Amino acid sequence: MYTVAQLIGGVWGAGGEGGELVVHDPADGSPVTRTPVATADEVAKAVEAARGVAAEWAATAPADRAAALHRAADAVEAAADELAEATTAEMGKPLDDARGGVAAGVGTLRQYAELAPLRGGRTLHGAHGALDFMAPEPRGVVAAITPWNDPVAVSCGLLGAALVTGNVVVYKPSERTPATGWLLARALDSALPAGVLSLITGGGEVGAALAGQELDVIAHVGSTATGRVIAAAGARTGAKVLLENGGSDPLVVDADVDPIWAAEQAALGCFANAGQICVAVERIYVHRDVAEGFLDALVARAEALTVGPGRDPGTQLAPLVDRRHRDHVHGQVTAALADGARIRAGGVLPDGPGAFYPATVVEGCRHDMALVREETFGPVAPVVVVDSFSEGLRCAADSPYGLAATVLTGSMSHAQRAWRELPVGTVKINSVFGGAPGGAAQPRRGSGQGFGYGPELLDEFSTVKAVHLEAPGGGHW
Ligand code: NAD
Repeated sequence: MYTVAQLIGGVWGAGGEGGELVVHDPADGSPVTRTPVATADEVAKAVEAARGVAAEWAATAPADRAAALHRAADAVEAAADELAEATTAEMGKPLDDARGGVAAGVGTLRQYAELAPLRGGRTLHGAHGALDFMAPEPRGVVAAITPWNDPVAVSCGLLGAALVTGNVVVYKPSERTPATGWLLARALDSALPAGVLSLITGGGEVGAALAGQELDVIAHVGSTATGRVIAAAGARTGAKVLLENGGSDPLVVDADVDPIWAAEQAALGCFANAGQICVAVERIYVHRDVAEGFLDALVARAEALTVGPGRDPGTQLAPLVDRRHRDHVHGQVTAALADGARIRAGGVLPDGPGAFYPATVVEGCRHDMALVREETFGPVAPVVVVDSFSEGLRCAADSPYGLAATVLTGSMSHAQRAWRELPVGTVKINSVFGGAPGGAAQPRRGSGQGFGYGPELLDEFSTVKAVHLEAPGGGHW
C-alpha cells in the first residue's frame, strides 16, 4: 500500500491535517493508497512558500533550468516501472498503456528541456539609435491541477513546461491517482532546488482552495464542469487560466471506405483505455451505404477484446476508474435504450468485484441523445446512421465541445471540407490517434482554452515584456 506525503515549502511530509483519503484498486476493490487531505491553511502556506522562492528560480539561467529538467527526466525514467505500476493499481489501465504514458511524459520533459533555452523575443529597430526587444519572462506561481486518466503524461507536460520557463509550481494531482502524483513529484523534486515544486493532495475541495489563491496561472486538465468553476476563480483573482477539458469527439465514416477497416479505427478510438481518453471517439456518424458491414465488424471487435485487470499481461479492456464513474457510463447507456436505441454488444453490468464495464456498441442512436452529445468517458460506441457525408459533418460540428474529430474518407475534397468546417482544435483524417509528438492545438468552447501541449505551452507559461531602449537626449550610446 502506498502512503503519500505532501511537499510544502521544500519539506516532505508537511501538513495533512485535513484527514486522509484511501484509493481502491478498480480491478478488485482492494485498498491501494492512503493520501493526506490538505487543509485550506496548508494550501495557502504552499502557495506562500512557493512565492518565496519564485524570484530565485526565475533568475536562474535558462540553460541551468533546462539541465535540471533533463536530470528530472532521468529520475522519472529511473522510476518508470514504479510509476506505471502505481498508475495501473490506482486507475486500472493496462500496464503497457501505463508504461507508454510514462515514456510519453519523459519524452515531453526532454523536449521542453531542449526547446526552452532556445526561446527569445523579437527585436525591432524604430527610431535611429533606439532598440526595442521583447523578452519572455516567467509568470510566477503556477497551480497545476490534473486528472487521473493519463496521469504521468499529462502532469509531465504541465510541470515540465511551467518549471523550465522559470515558474514555481504547486501540483495537485487527482484524488484518484495520488500515489502516481507523489512518485512523480518525488522524482522531479530530486533534481530541482528545494521549494520550486510543491505537492498537495486531496479532492476537489483542495483543488478549489488552490484555485482561489493569489496565483499567476491556474492550469487545469480535467472535466468541463470543473474547468468552468476554475475559470470563475481565476476571474476573481486575475490569474491566467489554462483549460484542457472534456470532449465528445465525433468519428465520421464516409460511404467510400472499407467498413472493416473503419470498424477497426472506431474500436481503437472507442475502447482504448476503456474510453477514458480525452480524445476518445464518443460518437459515430456512419454513412448508410457502409453501416451494416461497419456495425457487424465493430460488434465483432468489441466482443473479441480480452477483459481483465490492467496488471495481467494481454489485457486489452481493463476496468473503469471506479464504480461511481461506471454508474455514470451505464446511466447514459440505459437512458439511450429507454429512448429507442438498441444494444448490439455489451451494455450489461457484469457481476463480480471491481469497476469492469464491457465494450458496448449501441445502434439506432440519434444525434440529440445525451449518450451522443455528452462526454461518456467509457468503452461505448454510439452509432448514428446518416444519409450523406454532409449530414455526418453537420452533426459532428454541432456540439457543445470542440476538442478533436476524426473523418474516415477516400475523398480528398471531403477531407478538405472536414478540416475547414469542423470547429475543433484537432482534425484527424483516416487515423483516430497517432499525431506527431509535439503537436498542439487549442481546444474550443466547452473543451477549454489555450495550448495544453507542445512548444506553445512554453509560451502559455511565459509573459512577454517589451523594452524600448534609447540613449539619453536622443544621442548615441
Ligand atoms: P476533474 O475535473 O473532475 O478532476 C481533475 C482535477 O481537478 C482533479 O485534480 C480534481 O481534484 C480537481 N478538481 C475537482 N473539482 C475542482 C474544483 N471545484 N476546483 C478545483 N479543482 C477541482 O476531471 P477528472 O474526472 O479527473 O478527469 C476526466 C476529465 O478530464 C474528462 O472530462 C476528460 O475529457 C478530461 N481530460 C481532458 C484532457 C485534455 O487534454 N483536454 C486530457 C485528459 C483528461
